[in-house]
Amino acid sequence: MNFREFGLNDNLLEGIDASGYENATPVQEQVIPLILAGRDIIASAQTGTGKTAAFLLPIINNLMISRIEDQVNALVIVPTRELAVQIAQNLEGLSYFTPISSIAVYGGGDGSNFTTEKQALSRGADIVICTPGRMIAHLNMGYVRLQGLHYLVLDEADRMLDMGFFDDIMKIISFLPLKRQNLLFSATMPPKIRDLARKILHEPAEINIAISKPPAKIIQQAYIVYETQKIPLVKWLLGSRDFKSILVFCSKKHNVKQLTMELKRSRFSVKEIHSDLDQPTREQTLLEFKSRRLPILIATDILSRGIDIDNIDLVINYDVPNDGEDYVHRIGRTARAETDGTAITFVSEKEQNKMQAIERLLGHPVPKEVLPEQFGPGPDYSPGKARHSGGRGHGGGGHGGGSGGSGGGGGRRNFRPQQQRRPK
Ligand code: AMP
Repeated sequence: MNFREFGLNDNLLEGIDASGYENATPVQEQVIPLILAGRDIIASAQTGTGKTAAFLLPIINNLMISRIEDQVNALVIVPTRELAVQIAQNLEGLSYFTPISSIAVYGGGDGSNFTTEKQALSRGADIVICTPGRMIAHLNMGYVRLQGLHYLVLDEADRMLDMGFFDDIMKIISFLPLKRQNLLFSATMPPKIRDLARKILHEPAEINIAISKPPAKIIQQAYIVYETQKIPLVKWLLGSRDFKSILVFCSKKHNVKQLTMELKRSRFSVKEIHSDLDQPTREQTLLEFKSRRLPILIATDILSRGIDIDNIDLVINYDVPNDGEDYVHRIGRTARAETDGTAITFVSEKEQNKMQAIERLLGHPVPKEVLPEQFGPGPDYSPGKARHSGGRGHGGGGHGGGSGGSGGGGGRRNFRPQQQRRPK
């Protein structure tokens, strides 16, 4: 589903585009309309599903219409400072072309951070992302402007309870206006989360995003490569190991066609499947591959779901799949029934963020293989580096006058202060 279909503000759509999101993830598809409609939510969704944007996007969108100046309008409570920073970075990207300000509030830094947070909280920042202990320290001092608060988000609620934050959460809530929209996200739903939900949420919509995991016996590997190294690497893999049945997935049919042509030129026995081919041709090719008369098949994602092909030895993800679900479906083509299988993913520089999102969903990194010497070095694996510069959110208190007339509404706001970075 395209983000335009939610009816989001154009400036927000620009931020979504700049963040590299093309289509909504399943959790976003379900959650965004409900939040826009004003519902409380309890959602079981793990990290890696796109749950952060699922709550940030409707909140940013609604605050662009109805935010109350000089107040904290939305409070996101999270268990760790790492998550606070991550959400603040995500928010910074998504809200870049909007006038929404935000700040991450978390413990562990020096006194100057506390002062910066105090200034932002006492002037009002539109969205505050906080860890519980630090927020309480500020609340106890009495300057946090919460009268205009409309959104409360509890993220990774199960982890917060495991860490003993129940009382802290309830204490923070005791400072908030009663009339507000509450959103609770949790990877698991043990009884204590249900108790918390009963105390906090008002007639919540319940969302359950079940994530499949790949079978443990699949050997997963990744090569960090430049785009130009991909074709030679496929040839090397096909030539150097004894795989009998190999399925290569590409995200675009152009890549399927190009790779098929190159492999044919190198005399590999290979065929292609993509939407430009008619159905009988596709079926014939699939039959040859299933019966093992054809050893190598190159395909787009039309083959990734629901097609039962047994005994594939090797799946190569020539391009990183768009999300974790696609990854699981693609590599699930191998290691079916009793056989072990290998799944190798090529990750180019611009695909590193996607790979990281998949690894989050899997809950572990995919082992990175060293490129054979003749390929020369590949790029470093440093996802997140290209797009985000890191830091603790932005803009807290940015609405205070004298910002030089951004003209309101359109374009990039010009009152964004220098990003405040936490010293390492
Ligand atoms: P989360 O589950 O919120 O931790 O998100 C996991 C990763 O997916 C983050 O790197 C997000 O930036 C990314 N992401 C979220 N939504 C989308 C989307 N619709 N398309 C592509 N990437 C996304």
